[in-house]
Amino acid sequence: MSFTIAIDGPAGAGKSTIAKLVAKELECIYVDTGAMYRALALYMVRKGVDIHDEKKVEAELAGADVSLMYDKGELKVMLNGENVAGIIRTPEVSEAASVVSAYRQVRKELVRRQQLMAEKTDLVMDGRDIGTCVLPSADLKIYLTADARVRGERRYKELLEKGEECDLEEIIRDVIERDRRDMTREESPLRQADEKDKKKTALR
Ligand code: C5P
Repeated sequence: MSFTIAIDGPAGAGKSTIAKLVAKELECIYVDTGAMYRALALYMVRKGVDIHDEKKVEAELAGADVSLMYDKGELKVMLNGENVAGIIRTPEVSEAASVVSAYRQVRKELVRRQQLMAEKTDLVMDGRDIGTCVLPSADLKIYLTADARVRGERRYKELLEKGEECDLEEIIRDVIERDRRDMTREESPLRQADEKDKKKTALR
């Protein structure tokens, strides 16, 4: 049995910053599940698939082989053999990931891969449904959140540091819209895990 830590919460709360620090301290791997949804979204955008058409996205799913790899401590986000880590943080891919991640088959496929990783190795995993769905019996569950304005300001500063032009109010609006989608979708909506979630593993 491996040791697992689940970190969930809305966009820009600092989950990945914390997850990376904890993984380094515990010498285990960090699994960025958002990067997996982003890589899949990139695949759909590149193929010109209408991301708002669930059936079309599902029909193309089999063509996207998404996985995470570590090479000398550096996270590689692999999409059909190509490391796409550097190109999945654009506003276009963020938006597409937020849309396609609501689809049942998309989640089923990526959750399966995430659970496989957790069977094999100790890890810290962050996302939206880790404590509620992917790893309901995680050894530690953290729900990290902050006001949308604070999270938006964080993203804004990150983009400015990268030299990208951006508008704070627009970023805050995007953050609120992505939260709304994540929290209101039918499939594994974002919420804080509770005691009932732990029982899910017993039922599996
Ligand atoms: O965490 P990040 O912002 O990189 O994730 C990109 C998108 O993927 C999120 O907006 C969210 O909609 C989706 N996601 C998800 N479930 C996860 C991780 C991310 O639905 N476990």
